Amino acid sequence: MPKLFSGPEDRRIKRALCVVAHPDDIEFYCAGAVLLMTRHGVAVDFVLATSGDKGTRDGGKSRAKVARIREREQEMAADVLGVKHVVFLRHPDAELVESLELREELVREIRASKPDVLLTFDPNVPYRFHPDHRVVGRVALDAAWPSARDPLTFPKAGTPHETAEAWCFGGLQPTLEIDVEEVLGKKIEARLAHASQTTSPAALMRRWRAMARIEKFHQVNLR
Ligand SMILES: [Zn+2]
Repeated sequence: MPKLFSGPEDRRIKRALCVVAHPDDIEFYCAGAVLLMTRHGVAVDFVLATSGDKGTRDGGKSRAKVARIREREQEMAADVLGVKHVVFLRHPDAELVESLELREELVREIRASKPDVLLTFDPNVPYRFHPDHRVVGRVALDAAWPSARDPLTFPKAGTPHETAEAWCFGGLQPTLEIDVEEVLGKKIEARLAHASQTTSPAALMRRWRAMARIEKFHQVNLR
């Protein structure tokens, strides 16, 4: 069995794909790892299952408007992170369910992106965890292994692809800790691109300088 990747600096990693539920999930959980990869030429793609269309306390805004603002913010954050390709699947926020339709969509994205590493939510999480996060983690892992690999599964969703590993974040048993100190400034800049989700940039900056230096993943071999 091939050795697990040592971390984002492992030169065997050429491509990576982040699959998350909402705009700003990537910045919260794995933006440092993304920066450590893109800065030495790894192509990283983003897929968001929803556009966070309920992510506001202002009941006067329409969901379509919230989604438009948040997609734009995610694209600006991706730009800071060195990521050129962002796909929005536009499922309704807070309504994700495990379905074969979602699995096929994610198979299509995995086969198009051809990642060596899939970064997504760890579905083994505490009870108080956003249900969309749990669903995305579970369905993305099911899509990567074995569905995206097998030619008779969703044959219209592209050419089969075997993803080497998944790095799952937000779970209870991390096995890979990444120190992102050297890119922390950029990581915070990407998070601040989500202006609609930020009440005090100064307070966020202070908090993140103290707590966002280490990113934790559960590393899963999919080969
Ligand atoms: Zn989220």
